[in-house]
Amino acid sequence: MTALEEKLKARIAAEGPMGMDGWMAACLTDPEHGYYTTRDPLGAAGDFITAPEISQMFGEMIGLWLAQVWMDQGGPAPFVLAELGPGRGTLIADILRAAGKAPGFAEAAQVVLVETSPALKAVQAEALEGFAPRWVERVEQLPEGPLYLVANEFFDALPVRQFIRVEDGWHERCVGLEGEGFGFATRPVQAPELDYRLEDTAPGDLVETCTEAAKVVGEIGQRLAQHRAGVALIVDYGDVLSKGDTLQALRAHAPVGVLETPGEADLTAHVDFGALAAARGPAEAAPLTPQGVFLERLGITARAQALAGRLTGAALSEHIAAHRRLTHPEEMGRLFKCLALHPSNTATPPGF
Ligand code: SAH
Repeated sequence: MTALEEKLKARIAAEGPMGMDGWMAACLTDPEHGYYTTRDPLGAAGDFITAPEISQMFGEMIGLWLAQVWMDQGGPAPFVLAELGPGRGTLIADILRAAGKAPGFAEAAQVVLVETSPALKAVQAEALEGFAPRWVERVEQLPEGPLYLVANEFFDALPVRQFIRVEDGWHERCVGLEGEGFGFATRPVQAPELDYRLEDTAPGDLVETCTEAAKVVGEIGQRLAQHRAGVALIVDYGDVLSKGDTLQALRAHAPVGVLETPGEADLTAHVDFGALAAARGPAEAAPLTPQGVFLERLGITARAQALAGRLTGAALSEHIAAHRRLTHPEEMGRLFKCLALHPSNTATPPGF
């Protein structure tokens, strides 16, 4: 039995079954044994791969987009360039390389990374040598100032609760003890915040909520409105309304049971972009746009062609496959969505 399994069993024995949010938080970010706390899970040798790790084009497009928005807003200086959950630091490094071509951008940017994982902070420090990044653990700790923020595959790691519709209300899905291991259980709960879902669900349906995601977006929205400049780009998989069990565990690029190997597999849930947009407070939200459409509008195909000119053989095939993977509707192009938030006194950003 792993140390985390032991800890979780003791906790359930003492306190009773825990919600899926407690399970997810413990598995991913337990300060001693959490999945992210203890390792760098990204890449071919890890458990999963993300857009910036697939191709530099992803970060370049977003970097140029950020620089454009910043210039359109009059180039406020200094400003906070923030990333939530930067993984290996690849995205923010590509952003700085591309956006750095805009005069004054790099000098005005104060790079701040929101990260809880000591293992990943070390990897990020290496990727960002020369840019003097700072780290904070929560969005509320970001320094004051115009905020230009990106978050790719961050919100899917935030803990969700799961509710199963019964005739006149909801039961919460939780984790209890079963034989030698863990098993799913349910308990009746009062969930007035889900009243609006009684309209579009039937008994037996499952919906997910993410309180933490709403808090983070609320904080970002406040800051954007307060400084009357800035933008936030949230990229993740999901849709406008949560429906069905989307909690999944991934280990070595293959699905495993959500309760099988706590702390040893990545755990994610689809992002409810409707709930995110609703939590934005005083900021404006641009229309939700599929990743493939967003990247095409920013000119990824022209960039792909320019890069292709320098490649041959296997490197060229890989490059073509990466472009397809990021944009094609059957790959990441449609499942992944882009949500941009901006102050209401500023124009809708390009690409939306
Ligand atoms: N954005 C990166 C990595 C995505 S993996 C990429 O696209 O490649 C998720 C990232 O979020 C990791 O860096 C992980 O350590 C971080 N993370 C997960 N939960 C977090 C939390 N609650 N607070 C801050 N960072 C978190």
